Amino acid sequence: MKAIVYAGLLRLSVEDTPVPEPKPGQVLVRLKSAGICGSDVNYIKGEFQYSKIPIIPGHEGAGVVEIAEDSSELREGDRVVINYVSSCGECEYCKIRRDNLCNNVELIGFDRDGTWAEYIIVSEKSLMKLPDNISFEEGAISGCALVTPFHAIKISRLSPGESVAIIGLGGVGINAVPIARMMGASKIIGVDIHSPKLEVARKYGADLVVNPLETDPVEVVKEETGGVDVSFEFVGSINTILQALKITKKGGRVVLVGLTRSSLTLPLPDLLFNEKTIITSIDHTREDLKELLGLMERRALNFQNSISGVVDIAQVPKIIDEMVSGRYSGLRTVIRF
Ligand SMILES: [Zn+2]
Ligand SMILES: [Zn+2]
Repeated sequence: MKAIVYAGLLRLSVEDTPVPEPKPGQVLVRLKSAGICGSDVNYIKGEFQYSKIPIIPGHEGAGVVEIAEDSSELREGDRVVINYVSSCGECEYCKIRRDNLCNNVELIGFDRDGTWAEYIIVSEKSLMKLPDNISFEEGAISGCALVTPFHAIKISRLSPGESVAIIGLGGVGINAVPIARMMGASKIIGVDIHSPKLEVARKYGADLVVNPLETDPVEVVKEETGGVDVSFEFVGSINTILQALKITKKGGRVVLVGLTRSSLTLPLPDLLFNEKTIITSIDHTREDLKELLGLMERRALNFQNSISGVVDIAQVPKIIDEMVSGRYSGLRTVIRF
Protein backbone atom coordinates (compact mmCIF):
# COMPACT_ATOMS: atom_id res chain seq x y z
CA MET A 1 0.00 0.00 0.00
CA LYS A 2 1.05 3.62 -0.42
CA ALA A 3 1.76 5.45 2.84
CA ILE A 4 3.38 8.64 4.09
CA VAL A 5 6.20 7.76 6.46
CA TYR A 6 7.75 10.19 8.95
CA ALA A 7 11.35 9.24 9.68
CA GLY A 8 12.46 12.16 11.90
CA LEU A 9 12.41 15.95 11.97
CA LEU A 10 10.73 17.25 8.78
CA ARG A 11 11.47 13.97 6.96
CA LEU A 12 8.41 12.69 5.11
CA SER A 13 8.30 10.33 2.16
CA VAL A 14 5.75 8.45 0.10
CA GLU A 15 6.53 4.75 0.42
CA ASP A 16 5.22 1.35 -0.59
CA THR A 17 4.68 -0.56 2.64
CA PRO A 18 2.95 -3.89 3.42
CA VAL A 19 -0.77 -3.77 4.19
CA PRO A 20 -0.95 -4.34 7.99
CA GLU A 21 -2.58 -7.55 9.21
CA PRO A 22 -5.34 -7.24 11.81
CA LYS A 23 -4.85 -9.08 15.11
CA PRO A 24 -7.81 -10.43 17.11
CA GLY A 25 -10.18 -7.57 17.98
CA GLN A 26 -8.81 -5.39 15.21
CA VAL A 27 -10.39 -4.22 11.98
CA LEU A 28 -8.68 -3.50 8.68
CA VAL A 29 -10.04 -0.31 7.11
CA ARG A 30 -9.46 0.78 3.55
CA LEU A 31 -9.21 4.56 3.80
CA LYS A 32 -11.11 6.74 1.33
CA SER A 33 -10.12 10.12 2.73
CA ALA A 34 -7.77 11.56 5.37
CA GLY A 35 -7.29 15.12 6.60
CA ILE A 36 -4.10 17.12 7.06
CA CYS A 37 -4.31 19.00 10.35
CA GLY A 38 -2.23 21.77 11.92
CA SER A 39 -1.36 19.49 14.81
CA ASP A 40 0.25 17.00 12.39
CA VAL A 41 2.51 19.87 11.43
CA ASN A 42 3.29 20.64 15.13
CA TYR A 43 4.67 17.09 15.42
CA ILE A 44 6.39 16.93 12.04
CA LYS A 45 8.36 20.07 12.86
CA GLY A 46 9.34 18.68 16.26
CA GLU A 47 7.30 20.95 18.52
CA PHE A 48 5.72 17.81 20.02
CA GLN A 49 7.13 14.28 19.87
CA TYR A 50 5.67 11.17 18.21
CA SER A 51 5.77 8.07 20.43
CA LYS A 52 7.48 6.04 17.72
CA ILE A 53 9.62 6.68 14.67
CA PRO A 54 9.17 5.78 11.90
CA ILE A 55 5.44 6.41 12.01
CA ILE A 56 2.61 6.88 9.52
CA PRO A 57 1.07 10.22 10.64
CA GLY A 58 -2.55 11.34 10.25
CA HIS A 59 -5.41 11.32 12.75
CA GLU A 60 -8.38 12.23 10.55
CA GLY A 61 -9.73 9.47 8.36
CA ALA A 62 -12.79 7.76 6.93
CA GLY A 63 -13.12 4.66 4.82
CA VAL A 64 -14.72 1.26 4.50
CA VAL A 65 -14.24 -1.91 6.51
CA GLU A 66 -12.14 -4.42 4.57
CA ILE A 67 -11.76 -7.19 7.18
CA ALA A 68 -13.62 -7.56 10.49
CA GLU A 69 -14.00 -10.59 12.75
CA ASP A 70 -17.18 -12.66 12.56
CA SER A 71 -18.01 -11.60 16.13
CA SER A 72 -17.72 -7.93 15.18
CA GLU A 73 -20.73 -5.68 14.70
CA LEU A 74 -19.01 -4.31 11.62
CA ARG A 75 -19.23 -5.92 8.21
CA GLU A 76 -17.10 -5.69 5.11
CA GLY A 77 -18.03 -2.55 3.20
CA ASP A 78 -19.40 -0.61 6.19
CA ARG A 79 -18.58 3.09 6.00
CA VAL A 80 -16.62 4.22 9.08
CA VAL A 81 -14.87 7.20 10.71
CA ILE A 82 -11.65 6.76 12.68
CA ASN A 83 -11.87 8.06 16.25
CA TYR A 84 -8.19 8.84 16.84
CA VAL A 85 -8.60 9.09 20.64
CA SER A 86 -8.18 5.42 21.47
CA SER A 87 -9.23 5.09 25.12
CA CYS A 88 -9.21 2.05 27.43
CA GLY A 89 -12.88 2.12 28.41
CA GLU A 90 -12.05 1.10 31.98
CA CYS A 91 -10.20 3.85 33.86
CA GLU A 92 -11.88 6.43 36.13
CA TYR A 93 -12.15 8.96 33.26
CA CYS A 94 -13.56 6.49 30.74
CA LYS A 95 -16.12 5.46 33.35
CA ILE A 96 -17.43 9.03 33.62
CA ARG A 97 -17.37 9.39 29.83
CA ARG A 98 -14.46 11.83 29.82
CA ASP A 99 -12.50 9.40 27.66
CA ASN A 100 -10.48 12.25 26.11
CA LEU A 101 -8.66 12.25 29.48
CA CYS A 102 -8.24 8.43 29.60
CA ASN A 103 -5.27 7.37 31.74
CA ASN A 104 -4.22 4.85 29.10
CA VAL A 105 -5.07 6.83 25.99
CA GLU A 106 -3.26 6.19 22.72
CA LEU A 107 -3.64 8.66 19.89
CA ILE A 108 -3.86 7.18 16.41
CA GLY A 109 -1.45 9.04 14.15
CA PHE A 110 0.74 10.17 17.07
CA ASP A 111 1.29 7.07 19.23
CA ARG A 112 0.44 4.51 16.53
CA ASP A 113 0.34 4.44 12.74
CA GLY A 114 -2.30 6.79 11.39
CA THR A 115 -4.46 7.59 8.41
CA TRP A 116 -2.02 8.81 5.74
CA ALA A 117 -2.04 5.39 4.11
CA GLU A 118 -4.35 3.30 1.95
CA TYR A 119 -5.07 0.94 4.86
CA ILE A 120 -5.09 1.14 8.65
CA ILE A 121 -5.71 -1.38 11.41
CA VAL A 122 -7.57 -0.15 14.48
CA SER A 123 -9.50 -1.75 17.29
CA GLU A 124 -13.24 -1.95 16.67
CA LYS A 125 -13.99 0.61 19.38
CA SER A 126 -11.91 3.20 17.48
CA LEU A 127 -14.45 3.18 14.67
CA MET A 128 -17.79 4.83 14.34
CA LYS A 129 -20.30 4.26 11.56
CA LEU A 130 -20.40 7.02 8.97
CA PRO A 131 -23.97 7.81 7.87
CA ASP A 132 -24.58 7.28 4.14
CA ASN A 133 -25.40 10.91 3.45
CA ILE A 134 -22.04 12.22 4.74
CA SER A 135 -19.15 12.14 2.26
CA PHE A 136 -15.88 10.39 3.14
CA GLU A 137 -14.15 13.79 3.05
CA GLU A 138 -16.52 15.35 5.59
CA GLY A 139 -16.39 12.09 7.53
CA ALA A 140 -12.59 12.31 7.70
CA ILE A 141 -12.55 15.86 9.04
CA SER A 142 -15.33 15.11 11.51
CA GLY A 143 -12.74 13.18 13.54
CA CYS A 144 -10.77 16.31 14.48
CA ALA A 145 -11.50 19.54 12.59
CA LEU A 146 -15.23 19.34 13.36
CA VAL A 147 -15.37 17.52 16.67
CA THR A 148 -12.61 19.55 18.37
CA PRO A 149 -14.63 22.81 18.27
CA PHE A 150 -17.78 20.83 19.02
CA HIS A 151 -16.22 19.57 22.27
CA ALA A 152 -14.84 23.03 23.10
CA ILE A 153 -18.25 24.66 22.67
CA LYS A 154 -19.94 21.94 24.68
CA ILE A 155 -17.60 22.31 27.65
CA SER A 156 -17.93 26.10 27.49
CA ARG A 157 -21.60 25.51 28.48
CA LEU A 158 -22.64 28.08 25.85
CA SER A 159 -26.25 29.11 26.41
CA PRO A 160 -28.60 30.40 23.71
CA GLY A 161 -28.39 34.17 23.57
CA GLU A 162 -24.77 34.45 24.62
CA SER A 163 -22.23 36.28 22.49
CA VAL A 164 -19.13 34.55 21.22
CA ALA A 165 -15.73 35.51 19.82
CA ILE A 166 -13.71 32.98 17.86
CA ILE A 167 -10.04 33.82 17.50
CA GLY A 168 -8.26 31.84 14.78
CA LEU A 169 -10.42 30.69 11.86
CA GLY A 170 -8.14 27.99 10.47
CA GLY A 171 -9.05 24.40 9.63
CA VAL A 172 -10.39 23.77 13.16
CA GLY A 173 -11.50 27.20 14.45
CA ILE A 174 -13.61 27.99 11.39
CA ASN A 175 -15.99 25.16 12.27
CA ALA A 176 -16.74 26.73 15.64
CA VAL A 177 -18.79 29.33 13.72
CA PRO A 178 -21.61 27.07 12.42
CA ILE A 179 -21.59 25.07 15.66
CA ALA A 180 -21.95 28.19 17.83
CA ARG A 181 -24.69 29.39 15.46
CA MET A 182 -26.58 26.11 15.81
CA MET A 183 -26.21 26.23 19.58
CA GLY A 184 -27.94 29.59 19.67
CA ALA A 185 -25.16 32.13 20.07
CA SER A 186 -26.61 35.65 19.75
CA LYS A 187 -23.64 37.36 18.17
CA ILE A 188 -20.61 35.67 16.65
CA ILE A 189 -17.41 37.59 16.07
CA GLY A 190 -14.65 35.93 14.04
CA VAL A 191 -11.02 37.06 14.20
CA ASP A 192 -8.27 36.04 11.77
CA ILE A 193 -5.46 37.66 9.81
CA HIS A 194 -6.45 35.95 6.52
CA SER A 195 -9.30 37.65 4.69
CA PRO A 196 -10.50 34.54 2.76
CA LYS A 197 -11.05 32.79 6.11
CA LEU A 198 -13.08 35.78 7.32
CA GLU A 199 -15.22 35.40 4.19
CA VAL A 200 -15.93 31.75 5.00
CA ALA A 201 -16.78 32.74 8.57
CA ARG A 202 -19.35 35.19 7.16
CA LYS A 203 -20.88 32.47 5.00
CA TYR A 204 -21.15 30.33 8.11
CA GLY A 205 -23.08 33.06 9.90
CA ALA A 206 -20.51 35.22 11.72
CA ASP A 207 -22.12 38.60 12.46
CA LEU A 208 -18.86 40.47 12.51
CA VAL A 209 -15.38 39.60 11.29
CA VAL A 210 -12.20 41.37 12.29
CA ASN A 211 -8.77 41.30 10.69
CA PRO A 212 -6.24 42.29 13.41
CA LEU A 213 -3.87 43.47 10.66
CA GLU A 214 -6.43 46.20 9.91
CA THR A 215 -8.29 46.85 13.18
CA ASP A 216 -7.69 46.09 16.84
CA PRO A 217 -10.10 43.26 17.72
CA VAL A 218 -10.14 44.28 21.39
CA GLU A 219 -11.44 47.76 20.52
CA VAL A 220 -13.95 46.47 17.96
CA VAL A 221 -15.39 43.85 20.31
CA LYS A 222 -15.60 46.27 23.23
CA GLU A 223 -17.37 48.80 21.02
CA GLU A 224 -19.79 46.28 19.51
CA THR A 225 -20.65 44.20 22.54
CA GLY A 226 -18.90 45.64 25.59
CA GLY A 227 -17.15 42.24 25.74
CA VAL A 228 -18.35 38.76 24.80
CA ASP A 229 -19.75 36.08 27.08
CA VAL A 230 -17.45 33.39 25.73
CA SER A 231 -14.25 33.62 23.73
CA PHE A 232 -12.47 30.71 22.02
CA GLU A 233 -8.77 30.73 21.21
CA PHE A 234 -7.78 28.34 18.40
CA VAL A 235 -4.35 29.76 17.53
CA GLY A 236 -2.17 28.69 20.44
CA SER A 237 -0.17 31.91 20.77
CA ILE A 238 0.33 34.08 23.85
CA ASN A 239 -0.70 37.19 22.02
CA THR A 240 -4.10 35.83 20.99
CA ILE A 241 -4.70 34.19 24.38
CA LEU A 242 -4.24 37.61 26.02
CA GLN A 243 -6.56 39.07 23.39
CA ALA A 244 -9.19 36.45 24.25
CA LEU A 245 -8.96 37.38 27.94
CA LYS A 246 -9.37 41.08 27.15
CA ILE A 247 -12.38 40.73 24.87
CA THR A 248 -14.28 38.60 27.36
CA LYS A 249 -16.72 40.47 29.58
CA LYS A 250 -17.08 40.35 33.37
CA GLY A 251 -18.18 36.89 34.46
CA GLY A 252 -17.36 35.43 31.04
CA ARG A 253 -15.43 32.34 29.98
CA VAL A 254 -12.29 32.01 27.94
CA VAL A 255 -11.79 28.65 26.25
CA LEU A 256 -8.25 27.72 25.21
CA VAL A 257 -8.05 25.17 22.40
CA GLY A 258 -4.93 26.07 20.36
CA LEU A 259 -1.86 24.03 21.34
CA THR A 260 1.32 25.72 22.50
CA ARG A 261 4.48 24.86 24.43
CA SER A 262 4.81 28.42 25.77
CA SER A 263 4.14 29.66 29.30
CA LEU A 264 2.14 32.76 30.05
CA THR A 265 2.15 35.34 32.86
CA LEU A 266 -1.53 35.70 33.66
CA PRO A 267 -3.06 39.16 34.03
CA LEU A 268 -4.57 38.22 37.38
CA PRO A 269 -6.27 41.52 38.29
CA ASP A 270 -8.40 41.29 35.12
CA LEU A 271 -9.36 37.72 36.00
CA LEU A 272 -9.83 38.16 39.75
CA PHE A 273 -11.75 41.42 39.84
CA ASN A 274 -13.97 40.38 36.94
CA GLU A 275 -14.62 36.76 37.83
CA LYS A 276 -13.48 35.50 34.43
CA THR A 277 -13.07 31.77 33.99
CA ILE A 278 -10.39 30.05 31.91
CA ILE A 279 -11.42 26.67 30.49
CA THR A 280 -9.12 24.40 28.50
CA SER A 281 -10.35 21.93 25.92
CA ILE A 282 -8.44 18.92 24.57
CA ASP A 283 -9.52 16.48 21.86
CA HIS A 284 -13.09 15.12 22.21
CA THR A 285 -15.04 12.26 23.69
CA ARG A 286 -16.58 9.32 21.85
CA GLU A 287 -19.99 10.69 22.76
CA ASP A 288 -19.12 14.07 21.16
CA LEU A 289 -18.24 12.40 17.86
CA LYS A 290 -21.39 10.31 17.89
CA GLU A 291 -23.57 13.34 18.63
CA LEU A 292 -21.84 15.42 15.94
CA LEU A 293 -22.29 12.73 13.24
CA GLY A 294 -25.98 12.56 14.20
CA LEU A 295 -26.39 16.31 13.76
CA MET A 296 -24.60 16.15 10.39
CA GLU A 297 -26.77 13.25 9.26
CA ARG A 298 -29.90 15.26 10.07
CA ARG A 299 -28.38 18.28 8.28
CA ALA A 300 -28.61 20.37 11.47
CA LEU A 301 -24.96 21.16 10.81
CA ASN A 302 -23.32 21.69 7.47
CA PHE A 303 -19.62 22.13 6.78
CA GLN A 304 -19.58 22.44 3.00
CA ASN A 305 -17.07 25.33 3.03
CA SER A 306 -14.58 23.70 5.38
CA ILE A 307 -12.56 21.65 2.87
CA SER A 308 -10.35 23.85 0.74
CA GLY A 309 -8.44 21.24 -1.21
CA VAL A 310 -8.38 17.57 -2.20
CA VAL A 311 -5.04 15.97 -3.05
CA ASP A 312 -3.46 12.66 -3.96
CA ILE A 313 -1.27 11.05 -1.25
CA ALA A 314 1.87 11.82 -3.31
CA GLN A 315 1.25 15.55 -2.79
CA VAL A 316 1.27 15.38 1.01
CA PRO A 317 4.99 16.24 1.51
CA LYS A 318 4.50 19.36 -0.64
CA ILE A 319 1.44 20.49 1.37
CA ILE A 320 3.30 19.89 4.65
CA ASP A 321 6.22 21.91 3.32
CA GLU A 322 3.84 24.81 2.60
CA MET A 323 2.31 24.51 6.06
CA VAL A 324 5.70 24.42 7.82
CA SER A 325 6.98 27.46 5.92
CA GLY A 326 3.76 29.46 6.40
CA ARG A 327 2.94 29.59 2.67
CA TYR A 328 -0.20 27.48 3.08
CA SER A 329 -3.35 29.56 2.89
CA GLY A 330 -6.04 26.86 2.74
CA LEU A 331 -8.49 25.87 5.43
CA ARG A 332 -8.33 22.07 5.34
CA THR A 333 -6.74 19.88 2.71
CA VAL A 334 -7.83 16.26 2.53
CA ILE A 335 -6.23 13.28 0.81
CA ARG A 336 -8.50 11.23 -1.43
CA PHE A 337 -7.42 7.60 -1.91
ZN1 LIG B 1 -9.50 4.99 30.08
ZN1 LIG C 1 -6.30 17.52 14.30
